[in-house]
Amino acid sequence: MNLILIKYGELTTKGENREEFIKLLAKNIKNILKDHNPNIIKNRVRMYIECDRVEEAVKKLTKVFGIHGIVICYKIDADIDTIKEKALELMKDKEGTFKVDTNRADKNFPIKSMEFNNVIGGHILKNTNLKVDVHNPDTTIHIEIRVEGTYIYTDVINGIGGYPVGTQGKGLLMLSGGIDSPVAGYLALKRGIDIDCLYFEAPPHTSPEAKEKVTRLASIINEYSGNIRLLVVPFTKLQEAIYMNHADTYMITIMRRMMYRIAHEVSKKYGYKAIINGESIGQVASQTLDSMGVINPVTDIPVIRPVACMDKLEIIDIANHIDTYETSILPYEDCCTIFLPKHPVIKPKIEKCLEIEKRFDYESIIKETVDNIEIITDFNKTKSDLL
Ligand code: ATP
Ligand code: MG
Repeated sequence: MNLILIKYGELTTKGENREEFIKLLAKNIKNILKDHNPNIIKNRVRMYIECDRVEEAVKKLTKVFGIHGIVICYKIDADIDTIKEKALELMKDKEGTFKVDTNRADKNFPIKSMEFNNVIGGHILKNTNLKVDVHNPDTTIHIEIRVEGTYIYTDVINGIGGYPVGTQGKGLLMLSGGIDSPVAGYLALKRGIDIDCLYFEAPPHTSPEAKEKVTRLASIINEYSGNIRLLVVPFTKLQEAIYMNHADTYMITIMRRMMYRIAHEVSKKYGYKAIINGESIGQVASQTLDSMGVINPVTDIPVIRPVACMDKLEIIDIANHIDTYETSILPYEDCCTIFLPKHPVIKPKIEKCLEIEKRFDYESIIKETVDNIEIITDFNKTKSDLL
C-alpha cells in the first residue's frame, strides 16, 4: 500500500501551539484533498495520508503551508525479507550511488539500525549496479521501523514551509488585478493568515473582464488556501461622488481613504483582524510614506503590506513562481486607473482631505455599498476564457 507521509515544517519548533497547528494543518489538508477521499492519521512528528490518486494529491500538497517535506512511502510488515524485497524494488531503476538510512524506533525489531543498513545495502549491491556512497549519495533509501509498521521511501519532495493557514485568524486582502496584491496575499497566507479577498469594481468604468481577471487571481491563490471568498464591492457610486466633488489632484488619495474605510467596515462586520494590501513604498504617488500617512488613519485595524519593501522585480519573481503573473498582466484595468488625475498629489495634507470629504455624505454611500457586496465562493463556476 502506498501512502503519503508529511513532515511538518517550521511548526516543529513551536512548542506550546504545536498541537493546534497540527490539527489545523490536518484540517487544511483534508480541505485541499476533498476530491481525493483522504484518510489522515497524525501524530506529533508525522502525518500519514491515504487517498485516491496519490500523485495528483502530492501536487496539491506542495501548495499547503506548514508542510516541510512530502514523501510517497510504502507501509510494509516489519519482516526482514519483505523489507529487502521492497528496498530492491524501489532501487532497481536508480543509477549512480546510494545509501541506506534506517531509523529503528521500534526497539523490538531484532537488528540495530547500523547493522540493518548493511543488510539492506548488501542486498542492493548484490542485485544492482549501484555503488554505495555514504557521504553524498544520489539516492537515500529511508527505512523507518515503527511499532505501527515499517515505512520505506526514497525521494523527499520539498514542501512549501510557512505556517498552516488559519493559525493567525482571518485577514482581508485588498485584491486588485495588478501584480502586487496577489503576491501580498500569497505571503500573508504563508504566515498563517486565513484571507478573504476584497475587490472594488466600478462598472461601467471597469469591465466584466476586469472582474473575471480578479476572480481568476483569487482562484489561483486559493490553491494555497482552499478557503478563500471573494467579496466584490460596488464602488461606482462612491467613486463618481468623489469625482463630481472635484477631488482633482486628491482623487486617488480620497479614493484610497474610502477603500480603507470600506475595508474597515467589512472587517468589523465579518471579523477580519487585519487588512492586507499590495502597496509597495514609493511605487506610485499614493504609496509614498507621506501618502500612506494621510490614507491609513481612517482605520485602526492593522494594515499589513507584505511587499512594502520589495523591488518590483522581486515581486514579479514571486508572481511568476505562484503563477499569477500572466493573469496580472492581462490588459483589463481596475478602477484605480480610470479616474487617474494627470498630476496626483505627492504630499497630500490631511486638512485638505477632510475639507473635500465634507462636500458629500460619504458615510451613507459607504453603508449602502457595504450592504450590497457580492460574495463569490465557487471559483470553478466562474472560470472564464480570458487566457
Ligand atoms: P497592484 O499591482 O496590486 O494592482 P498597484 O501597484 O497597481 O498594485 P495601486 O493601484 O496603487 O497599486 O494599489 C495599491 C493596492 O491597493 C493594491 O495592491 C491593492 O491591494 C489595493 N487596490 C487597488 N485597487 C484595488 C481594487 N480595485 N480592488 C481592491 N484592492 C485594490
Ligand atoms: Mg493596481
